[in-house]
Amino acid sequence: MVLEKLGDSLKSALSKIAHGLFVDEKVLNELIKELQRALLQSDVNVKLVFELTNKIKERVQKEQTPAGLTKKEHLINVVYEELVKFLGGELEDFKIPEKKPYIIMMVGLFGSGKTTTTGKLAKYFMKRGKKVALIGLDIHRPAAMDQLMQVGKQINASVYIDKEKKDPIEIYESISPNLGKYDVVLVDTAGRDALSEDLIEELNNIHSAIQPDDIFLIISADIGQAAQKLAKTFHDNCGITGVVVTKMDGTAKGGGALSACAITGAPIRFIGVGEKVDDLELFKPKGFVGRLLGMGDLESLLEKAKEAITEEDAKDMEKKMLKGEFSLLDLYSQMEAMSKMGSLGKIMEMIPGMGTLKLPKDALKVQEGKLKLWKTAMNSMTKAELEDPELLNSSRIERISKGSGVPAGVIRELIKQYRESKKLIKMMKGGNPEKLMKKLTSGKR
Ligand code: GDP
Ligand code: MG
Repeated sequence: MVLEKLGDSLKSALSKIAHGLFVDEKVLNELIKELQRALLQSDVNVKLVFELTNKIKERVQKEQTPAGLTKKEHLINVVYEELVKFLGGELEDFKIPEKKPYIIMMVGLFGSGKTTTTGKLAKYFMKRGKKVALIGLDIHRPAAMDQLMQVGKQINASVYIDKEKKDPIEIYESISPNLGKYDVVLVDTAGRDALSEDLIEELNNIHSAIQPDDIFLIISADIGQAAQKLAKTFHDNCGITGVVVTKMDGTAKGGGALSACAITGAPIRFIGVGEKVDDLELFKPKGFVGRLLGMGDLESLLEKAKEAITEEDAKDMEKKMLKGEFSLLDLYSQMEAMSKMGSLGKIMEMIPGMGTLKLPKDALKVQEGKLKLWKTAMNSMTKAELEDPELLNSSRIERISKGSGVPAGVIRELIKQYRESKKLIKMMKGGNPEKLMKKLTSGKR
């Protein structure tokens, strides 16, 4: 796997958290240290590393743990989210172009992988049903044209080169009448050892002549964080629209290269992961970070994070409860939320002063089946009864049971649950957690 070492370090740091008993300041600091070590080893810029880890720490300390997540899960989720942002966030996916011909121009230094990537991209588009042409405009290295020809032959793509002419614009102009029949045209250009004045001039001239839809900067991952300056200079001088980071397979410095490109604002579109023509991957920060951290474990967690009730929901509930307003409908939504979350513990964690109380797990857990019955019965009640279930006398209970088809016993149970919950709330209001604790653990709820 690409960046295997970084992935391993991140996974091991997180698994220590996952297997630990709880998250406290010490655990958080240790995780932060391990993240820093892992990222620095991957050649991520020191300043960026500290910005990232400070952000993670700040979020974990300041944010309430969302209902439905444990503190540990929240921490892991924050690490995931911040790493995704770090590598470009949720930018729009690279779409298979519809415009015809769609022209992509490759730029970059010597040996960065322009010609190889041109072939890989051609294959990528051909696999998706596009007719592709490759154009060689690297007039500085005699072997460059042959290399492109070879790449084209290997994948059965049309290649246009001209070894006689010495001016890339002239070459392009003689080729361009043929290009109308292609969906995607990939233009390979020359590089230099560094981004020199004359390379900028050459690229800008080619740019004006071919009017590309995309300019991809090809960067080799082994330059690590130096990619930042390079990407920025290319960006400022040639207006690149995307980056392809190559040789991700052969270096431990890829984290540095990726993060460096991401902060220049030029989206990383693809990564090269080998010398072969199929060794190209569409780059998506979410998927990439997911794999680094071990997506299998992460997926269910992220799913859970999405479903968890929001902090505002919980706050609303808390306010109502503290004011002593509590209707059957509130009970219902509370139960519904709890059945989603699994335990009362989450709500308690959100109530100031209650968070530290260790509650028996599933103290007030209800089964979904029962919730459904309750809901059905509640649909047959009047508004006044929902607001004050004490109005429900035996004959009303019988009527509701007949009307809804819910056994009278279940309705009585609902009322009993309501009374119990109301008592709990009174105790919370009275700020008597010990008494509440005793009640919850005594077993006779
Ligand atoms: P150019 O000068 O920018 O056109 O670079 P080339 O396409 O000629 O590539 C330079 C060298 O890098 C070649 O030996 C390629 O095989 C190698 N290369 C390109 N991309 C990758 C990659 O993603 N992984 C690995 N391992 N090697 C690559
Ligand atoms: Mg080349």
